[in-house]
Amino acid sequence: MNLDALMKIEYGLFCLTAKKNNFDNGCIVNTVTQVTLTPCQVAVAVNKCNYTHDIIKESKEFNISVLTQKTPFSVFKNFGYQSGRNVNKFEDFQIKRSANGLAYLADYANSYMSCEVKEIIDLGTHSLFIAEVTDAQVLNDNPSVSYDYYLNNIKEDLVVETNSKIAWRCKICGYVYDGDPLPSDFICPICKHGAIDFEKIENFE
Ligand code: FE
Repeated sequence: MNLDALMKIEYGLFCLTAKKNNFDNGCIVNTVTQVTLTPCQVAVAVNKCNYTHDIIKESKEFNISVLTQKTPFSVFKNFGYQSGRNVNKFEDFQIKRSANGLAYLADYANSYMSCEVKEIIDLGTHSLFIAEVTDAQVLNDNPSVSYDYYLNNIKEDLVVETNSKIAWRCKICGYVYDGDPLPSDFICPICKHGAIDFEKIENFE
């Protein structure tokens, strides 16, 4: 079996936002899919390690911002490379809110959808949220960003400081594990992918 086959699936990239009490949080996901038209429903798989996951499970609502090719790396870094458990990701963002009171990324999305969770399917590491779209708006005609476009045109290498001659880099998000060997059960603290998605890097500066 060659798991690279799954990398051939084209994905979009989205910012999933939710709110707990008055705290806005959001994360980057690539797993939004429309699953039915009547009623209009979407499915999104979210890693249980993400704070946004816990907020959605409790509040049963979220917004999806469909990110465009003009979205800078700093936005992916802000929403994808840190946890809302430690920082307020919206601190430097002008918040725009949809009718449900949740934030959406007006400056970087071409559309957004407001969703109400109807069903949660436990997938082990992830929860699959099946949700009804209660509102949807188009913001502009900028093309949506695909995961492939992001990797080739937007993603920047993270600059890391390490004392080791050998380290392991997450092929998904760029996180560097400082040391060798990489534990076989290691989970990337940023994107939550496992050791299989890390590559060895040697003698780097
Ligand atoms: Fe990672």
